[in-house]
Amino acid sequence: MNEEIVVEASNIAKSYKDVTALTDLSLQVSQGQRCVLLGPNGAGKSTFLNLILGVLKVDRGSLSVFGKTPGHISIRRLTGAMLQISGIPSTLKVQEHLKLFRTYYHQPLSTDELVRIARLEGLERRTFGSLSGGQQQRLNFALALCGNPKLLILDEPSTSHDVEARMALWDEVDQLVSTERTLLLATHNLQEAERLGDRILIFHDGRVIADASPAKLRSMIGTTEISAQTNVNVDVFERNHQVKRIEHVNNHLRLYVSEAESTVRQLLQLDPNLKNLAVKPASLQDAYLHLLSPARFDGDYRASD
Ligand code: ADP
Repeated sequence: MNEEIVVEASNIAKSYKDVTALTDLSLQVSQGQRCVLLGPNGAGKSTFLNLILGVLKVDRGSLSVFGKTPGHISIRRLTGAMLQISGIPSTLKVQEHLKLFRTYYHQPLSTDELVRIARLEGLERRTFGSLSGGQQQRLNFALALCGNPKLLILDEPSTSHDVEARMALWDEVDQLVSTERTLLLATHNLQEAERLGDRILIFHDGRVIADASPAKLRSMIGTTEISAQTNVNVDVFERNHQVKRIEHVNNHLRLYVSEAESTVRQLLQLDPNLKNLAVKPASLQDAYLHLLSPARFDGDYRASD
C-alpha cells in the first residue's frame, strides 16, 4: 500500500499575539486518509488548516505538505480548499467564477463536471451575491474541486445546506475521496464526521486530545447505550466493569457499556418498575462529549488501529 505522507507536523505552535491557538502539535496524515477535525470553537482547527494552506506560518516546529513548505506553488496546485470565509467577488456569475478558477490549473475538471458534482445546474448565470447560503457553499465546493486536487480541505462545508443538499454533498465527497485523494474536514456535525471520516482528530485548547477511528472512539465509552427512567441508586454500576460511563440526571439514567445483556438484567433486578428502557449503539457524539468532559483531561487519547 502506498504510504505517502501528505501532511507532516512536528511540534508546531502558533499564537496570535497573546492568544495561543496551537501548542506543540505533532501528527502525520497519509495519502487516502479521511481525517475529520472536531472540537469546540476556538480549539485551533481553522488555524491548523490555514497553516497547511500556507495562509499562516508556524511560530515553532516544522510543517510540510507533500514534502514541501506550505504555500509552495506545487502544493497549491495539488490542494483544493473550501473555507468558511471565501472572499470571492459577489458580482461575478457562477459560470464566470468557474471559468476563472479553471485557468489556475493545468488540468482542471470540466465546467460540466463541476456543475454536476456541486449541483449547480440552473444557477450558472446567477451572481454569487444573489445565491442562498447553501448555494454559495455549493459554488465554493465546486471551486475547491476545480484543480482535481489530491488534498481536499473542507471547513464546515455543509452548515448552510438543507438536509437533502447535505446528504448529496456527503455522497459526492465520499465518492471523490479515494486512495488517491486525501481529505481534511473540519466540522461540528458529528453525523458528517461519522459519515465521512476514517480518522477523527479531536482538538481542544490547541492540542489534539484524541486521534483514532470513529469505531475506536465509540468503543472507549462502551459500544452500547442503555437508557431508562429510574430512581435506582447508580453507585452499584461503578463496580460493574462493563459500565464505562454513567449519566443520571433527574430520573433519567444512561449507561454506556461494553456488553449490554448482563447490565440490562442487573438494572431490571434493581428496579423492575423502570420505564422507557432502550438499548442502542453508542454514537460518536457520545464518545465526543465524554472526551471533552472536564474529568477526561488527564492526557491524550491516541490509537493507531
Ligand atoms: P477553531 O477553528 O477550532 O474554532 P481557531 O483556529 O479559529 O479555532 O482559533 C484558535 C484560537 O485562536 C482561538 O482562541 C481564537 O480566538 C484565536 N484566533 C483565531 N484567529 C485569530 C486572529 N486572527 N486573531 C487573534 N486570535 C485569533
